[in-house]
Amino acid sequence: MDSTKLYRRFRTLLIANRGEIACRVIRTARAMGLRTVAVYSEADRDAMHVALADEAVLLGPARARDSYLNVERLIEATKKTGAEAVHPGYGFLSENAEFAQACYGAGLVFVGPTAEMMNAMGSKSGSKALMEKAGVPLVPGYHGDAQDDATLAKAAEKVGFPILVKASAGGGGRGMRIVRSAAELAPAIVSAKREAKAAFGDDRMLIEKYVDNPRHIEVQIIGDSHGNLLSLFERECTLQRRHQKVIEEAPSPTLNAAQREAVCAAARKAAGAVNYVGAGTIEFVSDGKDVFFIEMNTRLQVEHPVTELITGVDLVEWQLRVAFGEALPLKQDEIKLNGYAIEARVYAENPTRNFMPSVGRISTWRLPAETGGLRIDAGYREGDTVSPYYDAMLAKMIAWAPTRDVAIDRLNRGLEDTDVRGIVTNIPFLSALITHPKVRANAIDTGFIERELAVLTSASPAPGELELCAAVAAIVNDERGAAQSETKSALNSPWQTFGWQPVGRRQRNFAFRVGHGPEQKIALNYGSGPSTCVIGERELTFAIAPRDGGFDLTLDGVKSSVAAVIDGHELYLRTRNGRFDLHWVDPFGGETEEQTGADKIAAPLPGTVVAVLAEEGAKLEKGAPILTLEVMKMEQTLRAPYAGVLKSIRCKVGDIVQEGIELAVVEASGE
Ligand code: ADP
Repeated sequence: MDSTKLYRRFRTLLIANRGEIACRVIRTARAMGLRTVAVYSEADRDAMHVALADEAVLLGPARARDSYLNVERLIEATKKTGAEAVHPGYGFLSENAEFAQACYGAGLVFVGPTAEMMNAMGSKSGSKALMEKAGVPLVPGYHGDAQDDATLAKAAEKVGFPILVKASAGGGGRGMRIVRSAAELAPAIVSAKREAKAAFGDDRMLIEKYVDNPRHIEVQIIGDSHGNLLSLFERECTLQRRHQKVIEEAPSPTLNAAQREAVCAAARKAAGAVNYVGAGTIEFVSDGKDVFFIEMNTRLQVEHPVTELITGVDLVEWQLRVAFGEALPLKQDEIKLNGYAIEARVYAENPTRNFMPSVGRISTWRLPAETGGLRIDAGYREGDTVSPYYDAMLAKMIAWAPTRDVAIDRLNRGLEDTDVRGIVTNIPFLSALITHPKVRANAIDTGFIERELAVLTSASPAPGELELCAAVAAIVNDERGAAQSETKSALNSPWQTFGWQPVGRRQRNFAFRVGHGPEQKIALNYGSGPSTCVIGERELTFAIAPRDGGFDLTLDGVKSSVAAVIDGHELYLRTRNGRFDLHWVDPFGGETEEQTGADKIAAPLPGTVVAVLAEEGAKLEKGAPILTLEVMKMEQTLRAPYAGVLKSIRCKVGDIVQEGIELAVVEASGE
């Protein structure tokens, strides 16, 4: 097909995506004077991307396959709004050749490569065969058509263990198994095939040498319809969890200038093999010395901002200009590498509970200003709801600086200055990760996070003197704020050291605890004279001055700033010592701990029952698996909280269950 006919100028762009990427594309499209159309599902009526666009079209029910993955509805939406072009973002239909073809068939411009290019690069086997021909270095392996057990076993022997069995159609780390010996091969192939069949409807496998201590290095490329093809340096995405990227940086701290030029040249060769048009990424795995092609992604990637920050190029703008049929505005030698950028993916998930997604309403959403090298690409706002239907990425925080060390420090400061409440986020985990000495020293590989998980997810430190005083200050500051807005009742507030003061001294007692830890007591003395806080034998003078998002707290003459959020009896504090989540124990008592969690076998979030693993009447050891739920994209197995007998199972495979619903009952054995 003549690709010059596919690309032409348009005025209205439909973004076939949601969340931060839809917001990101809308921002640039708007800046280029385009009219933007958002699409949404019933779960996303009030979502940020819908509010940002000029127009928005409801696609259908929450389930992605009824909305964001529904090609017919998407094409209909372009008709309804007069959109002439479609930007697919990433994920969903962004690498779906049938969708690209359907857009073309409907007379639309697809902002991306042609269906043919996607088909050529879409399968890992097919693209590896192409790369082999083009002379791009590959990981030793097998990517042939024959799929019988004997062929795969022979290929594995030849490559030599450890090997990786990989779904040719794979993505997102699915359908992939590391195999360390011949005995493990057959079962690994069976399970990888099952996963690949379910996820991609295609169970063809390839076999690759497993590169030891692997690093992930990828090159951003972009081509136009006039035969120009550019590389925009590389990104290093070695910090991964379950083959999914967590932190990305550019340029790679692992490569020297000669290696950089070599990998970029290999990437240009790879994309050149299909005369690629649009933005794409050539992915390599590296042993720290050599790089080997693993796959190409024919779309914009989550981590594209780090490339933008070191090159000054707006990749979405270039995507749109390529889609207009323009030639790329720069030549290869005009693309300069400037400084260092690092990105962290902020997710609604709980790292201390196996990264379980966290859904609910975002009650607080406070982000630092995008100044001093900091950039934030967000898809949510305060008051928005994180639903269980889609990927739980909330935002990306990206920092640029002249050096890697300063970029890391800026990113960490940005993460520390962020308060998201109402849902659990991975922000403390991200901070711990990027400030880990081995990350700073770039002494990492793709298994680093898994190995260091205990350190990276350890609970926040116990609150000290400063935090207890800050907790009191937060409550009092909050009450004062409330009192000022209800003028008269101010007289009842104990917080009158700022104005009227009662005669004599008064004392108010508080108690706080962290999780199920011990109660820590503190008293506030106020009235005439300076206020003080008393903790055990210690008495500290205490003064506060409110400021945006918190207050300055002065203890015994030392001032420090504290960020604070109060949600009922829950206090979230950020002091110079880190983040602290404290529970204010109600002095009037009446507090009961709800019987949830460990003892009750209940759905922690809305989900689908995917397996029942024990039968009614069965005797269970403590920790024995009972059933598996799929919650968002993750499987979670619920286990026996103690040894006993499985009295009843209250669900079956396929049931969609609501949060908190009891799914099984275990009766403790009488020992
Ligand atoms: P997906 O398309 O599912 O993301 P990839 O082929 O891109 O799968 O691989 C995902 C990740 O798995 C890579 O980023 C890399 O960390 C790791 N990986 C892939 N191939 C190899 C290999 N041959 N040796 C070691 N690690 C690998």
